[in-house]
Amino acid sequence: MILFKRSLELAKYLESRRNSGLRIGFVPTMGALHNGHISLIKASMGVTDLTVCSIFVNPTQFNDPKDFKKYPITLEKDIYLLEKNGTHVLFLPDPAEIYPDGTHHLEHYDLGYLETILEGQYRPGHFQGVCQVMHRLLRIVGPTDLFMGEKDYQQCLVIKRLLETGGSQPSFHTCPTLRESDGLAMSSRNLRLGDMERANAPAIYEALQWIREHLHSGDLSGLVENARSRLMERGFRVDYIELARAENLEKMVQWDGHSPLVALIAAFQGETRLIDNLVLAH
Ligand code: AMP
Repeated sequence: MILFKRSLELAKYLESRRNSGLRIGFVPTMGALHNGHISLIKASMGVTDLTVCSIFVNPTQFNDPKDFKKYPITLEKDIYLLEKNGTHVLFLPDPAEIYPDGTHHLEHYDLGYLETILEGQYRPGHFQGVCQVMHRLLRIVGPTDLFMGEKDYQQCLVIKRLLETGGSQPSFHTCPTLRESDGLAMSSRNLRLGDMERANAPAIYEALQWIREHLHSGDLSGLVENARSRLMERGFRVDYIELARAENLEKMVQWDGHSPLVALIAAFQGETRLIDNLVLAH
């Protein structure tokens, strides 16, 4: 594995590889890697010639500075995992490499409705930060293929929109959510859960599965309220539980029995905010 810390050097290296006709896969991450991240690396290795992973904890996407400060860093283990799984290139930039002019006065992206709901509503500015960093990373890496996780369902829709409006058009691959054996979606944030919190955490996936099992056409509000009670019983503070149109996340109050539908949850266990989702109908 080759490690680059400088944007220009990485861009030069990858340009020569692209010019030789290689397909370049890109997996952007914030580190504290787990098998969910590694599944994206493997997906990239399966269809591209050269896989680039970036580790960069992007300050501009944290609406809560405490959350940024507490973000787990496990760099040695990350490098070990990436190398073990055959990653070709690791990009490990300092903030100044990504934001040479600082993080004030950054560009604003028109994300429309997507930015006003769910994660956009509860984490103001978050998706602007995601677009600011992704735009820069895509310009530096210039991938032919981009790999991201369905775990961050709304983020995938935001990035699709960014790709549609931006110049570069890599193929976009959304990869399924990897889970622990008790159903908890793998997440770097799980490292912050205490023992009791960790024991309660699978209740999110249990609630999603409960919704799937009891899904019916017509009014959906009973399902949401039942799931909310289940989470509160297990000590969660719920930001949202929502059933939404799978293609654009428009809230679905009544279901016709066949439209593509996704259930999304964000909830705190102690100080740790967890998100998860489940596609209920394709
Ligand atoms: P993060 O480091 O949290 O920014 O995540 C980097 C990428 O890994 C994003 O595209 C995430 O959606 C994806 N990812 C995070 N957790 C999982 C998971 N449990 N399964 C699959 N992909 C994931």
